[in-house]
Amino acid sequence: MVAGGGPAGMMLGLLLARAGLRVTVLEKHADFLRDFRGDTIHPSTLQVLHELGMADEFLRLRHTKVRQLAAAFGGRQFPIVDLRRLSVRYPFIAMIPQWDFLDFLAGAARAYRSFELRMQTEATGLLFAGNRVTGVQTDAGPLAADLVVAADGRHSTLRAAAALEVIDLGAPIDVLWFRVSRRPDDPAQAMVRLDPGSIVVMLDRGEYWQCAFVIAKGALDQVKGRGLDAFRATLARLMPFAAERLREIASWDHVKLLTVQVNRLRTWYREGLLCLGDAAHAMSPVGGVGINLAIQDAVAAANLLWTGEFSARVLRSVQDRREFPTRVTQQFQLLVQERILSRVLSADADAADPPFVLRLLSRFALLRQIPARIVGVGVRPEHVRSPAVTA
Ligand SMILES: Cc1cc2nc3c(=O)[nH]c(=O)nc-3n(C[C@H](O)[C@H](O)[C@H](O)COP(=O)(O)OP(=O)(O)OC[C@H]3O[C@@H](n4cnc5c(N)ncnc54)[C@H](O)[C@@H]3O)c2cc1C
Repeated sequence: MVAGGGPAGMMLGLLLARAGLRVTVLEKHADFLRDFRGDTIHPSTLQVLHELGMADEFLRLRHTKVRQLAAAFGGRQFPIVDLRRLSVRYPFIAMIPQWDFLDFLAGAARAYRSFELRMQTEATGLLFAGNRVTGVQTDAGPLAADLVVAADGRHSTLRAAAALEVIDLGAPIDVLWFRVSRRPDDPAQAMVRLDPGSIVVMLDRGEYWQCAFVIAKGALDQVKGRGLDAFRATLARLMPFAAERLREIASWDHVKLLTVQVNRLRTWYREGLLCLGDAAHAMSPVGGVGINLAIQDAVAAANLLWTGEFSARVLRSVQDRREFPTRVTQQFQLLVQERILSRVLSADADAADPPFVLRLLSRFALLRQIPARIVGVGVRPEHVRSPAVTA
C-alpha cells in the first residue's frame, strides 16, 4: 500500500506492479492538477523512463528542454549549469507539467492487473498491531497492508502518525511563485536573475514563464505590506523585457507562497512502514531536484522490495541506499542558500560585485560540471533492477 500519488508513490506503484506485486496507491485529490509544483524531469529520471522502455513515448508529450542555466547580475551573464557536457543519454531537463508526468505514470501502471489507484482517498492514520504497522486508516475506512509506504509529501500525515524523528536543517528563504506570459523574442533559456536584495528564477514553460521570487524566510507580510506595485517594480528591474506583462499579476491571489523546508528523517522506517520522497526528506527548491530524488528513492526501493520481503533489514537497506545522496544534495542546497541566496538578499542596493561563486563558475567550464552533475544526475544514480512481468 502506497499513500500518496506524487512522483515517489506513482513510480513505486508502477515498478512494484510491473514486478507482479499487488499495489494500491491512495491519492487524496481527485486528479493530479496542481499548479506551481515541480515540473522538471531531469536526465536521471529520463534515464529511468528509458530503462522502462517509456522515454520515447514520454518525450512525445508537449515539453520544453532546458540545456543550460545562466545567472544575470547587473546586466552581465554568468553561465552556471551546462547539462550538454554530461555523459548521459538525455542531456537536458524536460519541463513538463507535473500532472502530465503523473498521468503518464498512472497510465503505464494501469497496464498491470495488480495495480490499483484509488483517487480521493486520504490516509488519515496508521493501523498498528503492537509496534508493527499493519495498514492505514482512510476516510473510506481501514485498509490492511503487508507494507505501508508513506509517499505523502513533506507534510506527511503518516510519518507524523509513526512519530518518526525529523532533523530540521533550516532554510533562510521562502519562495513566491507566479507566472508571466512569454513572447518568442524573450531570452531563450531558463534564467536566474539577481540584483542586490532580490532574486528571481525564470523557467521557460512555452507560453509562459514560471517564476520563483526568492524572499528572506517569513518576509511575505513585509513584501505584501509594500504593495503590489512595489513588488511589480522590483520584478521589472529583474526582468525588464517583461515589465509591461507584470500587470498580469493582478492580485496577491496570483502569487503562491512556498514555505521552504529542508529536513530529513533520522530513521525512514519502522516495522511495516517506509517513508520515501519528500515524506522522508523535504528538499530546498535550489536546483529543482525534489522530483528527481523522489523518483530515485522509488527506483531504489523497488529494487529492494520487489521480492516481497518487507523485513526491517530490507527497509533499513532502502534508507542506507538513499540517505547518502539525500545528505550530499541537501548540503549542496544549504551551501547555495547560505553562500549565494542569503548574501544577495541581504546585499546593499549599491553592491556592484556578483557573488564570488558565480564568477568562479562562469570562468571555469569544468567547475560547471559539478552543479550540472548534482542537478542533472544526482549522487548515486539508480537503475531499474526490479523485473517486469507481462503487462
Ligand atoms: C511550489 C513548489 C515548486 C517546486 N518546484 C520543483 C521543481 O521545479 N523541481 C523539482 O524537482 N521539485 C520541485 N518541487 C518539489 C517537488 O514537487 C517535490 O520534491 C516532489 O514532488 C516530491 O515528490 P513526492 O512524491 O515525495 O511528494 P509529493 O509530490 O508532495 O506527492 C505527495 C502526494 O501525496 C498526496 N497526499 C498527501 N497526503 C496524503 C494523504 N494523507 N493520503 C493520500 N494522499 C496524500 C498529495 O496529494 C500528493 O499527490 C517543488 C515543490 C513545490 C511545493
